[in-house]
Amino acid sequence: MSNSNIFGAKPYQFWFATGSQDLYGDECLAKVAEHSKIIVAKLNESGVLPYELVWKPTLIDNTSIRRLFNEANGDVNCAGVITWMHTFSPAKSWILGLQEYRKPLMHLHTQFNQEIPYDAIDMDFMNENQSAHGGREYGHMVTRMGIERKVVAGHWNDPAVRKRMADWMRTAVGIMESSHIRVVRVADNMRNVAVTEGDKVEAQMKFGWEIDAYPVNEIAAYVDAVPAGEIDTLVEEYYGKYELLTEGRDEKEFRAHVAVQAGIEIGFEKFLKDHDYHAIVTHFGDLGALKQLPGLAIQRLMEKGYGFGAEGDWKTAAMVRLMKLMTAGVKDAKGTSFMEDYTYNLVPGKEGILQAHMLEVCPTISDGSIGIKVCPLSMGEREDPARLVFTSKEGPAIATSLIDLGHRFRLIINEVDCKKVEKPMPKLPVATAFWTPRPNLTTGAESWILAGGAHHTAFTYDLTAEQMGDWAEAMGIEAVYIDNDTTIRGLKNEMRWNQAAYR
Ligand code: MN
Repeated sequence: MSNSNIFGAKPYQFWFATGSQDLYGDECLAKVAEHSKIIVAKLNESGVLPYELVWKPTLIDNTSIRRLFNEANGDVNCAGVITWMHTFSPAKSWILGLQEYRKPLMHLHTQFNQEIPYDAIDMDFMNENQSAHGGREYGHMVTRMGIERKVVAGHWNDPAVRKRMADWMRTAVGIMESSHIRVVRVADNMRNVAVTEGDKVEAQMKFGWEIDAYPVNEIAAYVDAVPAGEIDTLVEEYYGKYELLTEGRDEKEFRAHVAVQAGIEIGFEKFLKDHDYHAIVTHFGDLGALKQLPGLAIQRLMEKGYGFGAEGDWKTAAMVRLMKLMTAGVKDAKGTSFMEDYTYNLVPGKEGILQAHMLEVCPTISDGSIGIKVCPLSMGEREDPARLVFTSKEGPAIATSLIDLGHRFRLIINEVDCKKVEKPMPKLPVATAFWTPRPNLTTGAESWILAGGAHHTAFTYDLTAEQMGDWAEAMGIEAVYIDNDTTIRGLKNEMRWNQAAYR
């Protein structure tokens, strides 16, 4: 299943800009243009890149470079510029353009030919094909200017290089889209909880997020106003799509509980659309006139691409929305969800963490059939909420936690391996995932706790740690990776040094 239905996903383009100069004559410049056109055409034909690459005329001087970067700034469809130094391109010519450029930047360090043409190579060939030379001149300047960019080295026809370009395009879209994310807080955060708090002004300055609170009854009024006919139609859709696990409950009473969630889904979505919000947080302790804690309703909204965080957790809600946008159009996507660490399995050789939430796990991560259950909820003092239940897919994934350290943000990224639990859990009325953190449960959990990671995560199978780490770097915040290379000693040192670097 493709993820192309994420609402609000835009058809971005990336510009391909080739650097050269006029020192070697028109014949050489004609070849440079020809080569870069071929590279762009072949990359687009490969089908690997998630967004179109647009060829731009060769850049040879201050004026043309400055003009291109400013055009890129002003083009709403352009999500980034990919630069390539075909020949030598004196880098002082790039200073003004780079100073004025505000979008994601990649330096593709490639060359047209893969192999040295041993029998034919002469000085003309060397002058025309000197990326190893020109790329260093350009790279020096970008480093000296302190500009964040992605460097990808290798032959443009290598599948590994194409994959890295494709991955970075998704990071760039995350950078572009971050500043469009608007989160609605329904009521305030859960009392006494630390990790769901944060500095909303700093979040808007760093990430561009707009985070607004509304009294719960303003959104509850939208739910009340949903016509009964619309609710019936949506309940019919649920009944056609999901397995009904009534477990002895009266069928009419069961349906009435499900109908409450259908009303919440329709009412909440109308509220979100009317007010242009892309992520939402709720809090079980402040439900106002809502009859149930939003469960199935929130699960369905997440499936459509909305971000979500429970107990007022707006940081995770924004991250879930961001990661859903970054995965828009992923072929055979496996899913992205809000998640929470619950219970360990500490049996040697079978270690892992059971993941779930009270109700709100996104069905995009499900494996196999999805059922509807109506069960009591010990918290929230409302009627038994309907929820979708399922287990999740196997395979590698990442769990991320954005935390506020008081004066700055840190993004913690843990590579995890999702597995099946050994046995069904028939008495557990929530959707679950089960994973073993890398490098193993002991070091993974110790590292997560030392790094200050939350119990809530934004989780996905469809992005890599590198993609999220690149996003964090572009935002100017610290990224802490927990993966197969992590040691406790190394991690502690890294965080100690980062404390000096990120002040
Ligand atoms: Mn929670």
